[in-house]
Amino acid sequence: MIPDKDLQSLVAYRGDNKVLSVYLDTSLAAKSKDAVRLLFRERSKHLSEAQDDLAKVQRYLDLDYDWRARGLAIFSGGEALWTVVPLPVAVRTQAYYAIKPQIRVLTDIVDRFGSYGVALVDQERLKLYAVAMGRIDPVLEKVGEEVRSYKQGGWSVRGGQRSAATTHGDVNPADRNLREAAHEIQTFCSGDGPKNLVLGGSAEALGRVRELLPNRIREHILGDFLVDLDEPSDQVLQRSLDIAVQLDLAAEKKLVSQAVTAANKGGQGVTGVVDTLSMLYQGRVRLLLVDEAFRREGHICAHCGYIASKAPTACPLCSYETFDATGDVGNAAIHKALATGADVNIVRDNVELEKAGSIAALLRY
Ligand SMILES: [Zn+2]
Repeated sequence: MIPDKDLQSLVAYRGDNKVLSVYLDTSLAAKSKDAVRLLFRERSKHLSEAQDDLAKVQRYLDLDYDWRARGLAIFSGGEALWTVVPLPVAVRTQAYYAIKPQIRVLTDIVDRFGSYGVALVDQERLKLYAVAMGRIDPVLEKVGEEVRSYKQGGWSVRGGQRSAATTHGDVNPADRNLREAAHEIQTFCSGDGPKNLVLGGSAEALGRVRELLPNRIREHILGDFLVDLDEPSDQVLQRSLDIAVQLDLAAEKKLVSQAVTAANKGGQGVTGVVDTLSMLYQGRVRLLLVDEAFRREGHICAHCGYIASKAPTACPLCSYETFDATGDVGNAAIHKALATGADVNIVRDNVELEKAGSIAALLRY
């Protein structure tokens, strides 16, 4: 499954039928399959005109889906379109029915969890994996010199106390192996290799490999986790995804807090739909933050971004007479952001943003 190709064909999609776009939280960690199906029915019942496509999705969940991914994106447009994209992270269950596929959640996830490398190291071994959109592929496995003499001294105890670097005398086999591993990781991450990296393995090996890696690679280490190198790749994938997700949520929280604090102080931040739209139309937004679930209808002044629930004859702020009606203000805001060169971040599970009106921005000035 190469989602880039899927994504491009979805962006380019021009069909005669409307398209049903569905995002599903299919993580079974805290709920049953039935609960997933129920939530889907609940969140899609307002789309009664999409009955045939909805039934198709329902059938897929009942009969064909293997329940392995944490989330799903499904696009269905009559006979013309049927695309299922397994997602590496859980997404809020939501459904849309419109002329174009609703791809904003999908593109956001591809951007952020699209691909990274995983390097597992211990005293003797190195394993490299490439992760792309929730799929893990082995790239390299290397067994170095045996470190038997150290094992006799209790070296093989996991989470061991000694660092290989502090052993007296010549460089010991373990350290030689780790240097070799660091070298391989560098090669892996250069050229077309992954930009971001998750490390796993034994505690002492992880510490040493970090030291041995050059800064330019160390800066792109998302995190690390303790793991036995014989762990199945499926587990390695899940553990590395947990790290990526946590990191992403933490980064998002920081950005939201920054925007809210700046807005409260009258600085370079803004919250709520009215102020955020106004700043977007002035081209002052550097980063737009939109809650994944934000949805609102409205009429937006095409000149200044003034928003009204009912279209006035003229804009009360700028007297402009053209208003764009939209069923999804969030989507309109995202388009405006992209058109003015701002970055967009779709935010999940963030109470602070919800309280601030589910939309906010960091400003250029
Ligand atoms: Zn206006």
